[in-house]
Amino acid sequence: MSKVMVIGCGGVAQVAIQKIAKLDEVFTDMMIASRTVSKCDDLKKKIEAEGSKTRIVTAKVDADNVDELTALIKDYAPDMVLNVALPYQDLTIMDACLNAGVHYVDTANYEPENIDDPEWRKVYDKRCKELGFSAYFDYSWQWAYKEKFEKAGLTAILGTGFDPGVTSVFAAYAKKHYFDEIDTIDILDCNGGDHGYAFATNFNPEINLREVSAPGSYLENGKWVEIPAMSIHRKYNFDQVGEKDMYLLHHEEIEALGRNMPEVKRIRFFMTFGQSYLDHMRCLEDVGMLSTEPINYNGTEIVPIQFLKALLPDPASLGPRTVGKTNIGCIFTGKKDGKERKIYIYNVCDHQECYKELGSQAISYTTGVPAMIGTMLLATGQWKKPGVFTTDEFDPDPYMEALNKYGLPWVVDENPVLVD
Ligand code: NDP
Repeated sequence: MSKVMVIGCGGVAQVAIQKIAKLDEVFTDMMIASRTVSKCDDLKKKIEAEGSKTRIVTAKVDADNVDELTALIKDYAPDMVLNVALPYQDLTIMDACLNAGVHYVDTANYEPENIDDPEWRKVYDKRCKELGFSAYFDYSWQWAYKEKFEKAGLTAILGTGFDPGVTSVFAAYAKKHYFDEIDTIDILDCNGGDHGYAFATNFNPEINLREVSAPGSYLENGKWVEIPAMSIHRKYNFDQVGEKDMYLLHHEEIEALGRNMPEVKRIRFFMTFGQSYLDHMRCLEDVGMLSTEPINYNGTEIVPIQFLKALLPDPASLGPRTVGKTNIGCIFTGKKDGKERKIYIYNVCDHQECYKELGSQAISYTTGVPAMIGTMLLATGQWKKPGVFTTDEFDPDPYMEALNKYGLPWVVDENPVLVD
């Protein structure tokens, strides 16, 4: 019997919301609150027409405004807030949750909207120097809320999407059931889907392009090794997708796993990209279209990357035209009972199947389903403890079971090909 407030109504949110509404025995009440309330109203209508018993209300909210959001949360009085807006809103939503005394869940760690803000820049420059990776996002901002959540007796679950989220649960599961000691983790994110456009991003373009155009990095023996963007390339033959080019990227779960499993000697993250995507991205970067710094154009202030977002296809609209599959998972090496062991845990998800079920492509689906699962485990009390946690810090078993049950079945390959 839980009451949930979902913030955001974009690609990922629409999957999470529909999945929550299918669990009407757990989620009796839901508020969908976002910047554009018409999207919330349209989705409410669709869900109600399908017969969900969850009582749904909608609201317009600016989640950058802590006071406005606090008032809305206090008024609706949910048990928890699921933040599927943008990483820019993580801290304001966490503040509002603390003000109103409710639990918090999200799918991506904090990064600022304006990376030229001098206050943020000071902290960022210090972190780059001390830790040695230069991604704009990191967990320090949200981990700093640990004590506040502990004192308030509230739970914050960070990053319950697929990667991060499921990949970190896979790591906790491997550690619990397959290894005495994990030596290496390679996280492989393959999207074999084709949407037919020369260039489009599968989730929010601003967030996606920032992530991909940044230098790559990985953890080795507790230290970050940073490399120029896209400079480590491998080929891998993915089950049900085939051979793809993949590139080493910095990714947020490396940071959390590195902290929570310090015994692991190397943690890397690879994502597949086609040549057309990379060529477009390089060109856009070279001409300044990925910049977040506002410029004045004919008396109007525009942020280049936001203007680009307005030109690109809305990720939520890719569903009907995307065919093919995703394959996302982790390869672990280590020891069990004194013997070397390697396993690969992964999920394969079909874009068209996702579209048939919920009207979304697989990237939104593979993120929105785990967002619902993390929220559900909090609602049922299985993942509830005061503080701020990533998904590798809870018992993985109920989460793994829920993945099988709610649309993201996984397999364990006990003899995988390793990435060199
Ligand atoms: P979208 O851009 O499609 O949706 C974002 C939603 O948030 C939109 O509905 C938008 O409103 C709303 N929003 C933005 N700013 C505000 C604000 N200030 N106040 C209220 N609402 C706001 O993004 P996605 O659905 O693609 O991504 C959602 C989240 O999921 C992101 O944080 C992303 O990083 C994360 N993600 C995580 C993954 C993982 O595996 N862990 C993978 C993919 C994404 P409007 O409709 O007006 O634009």
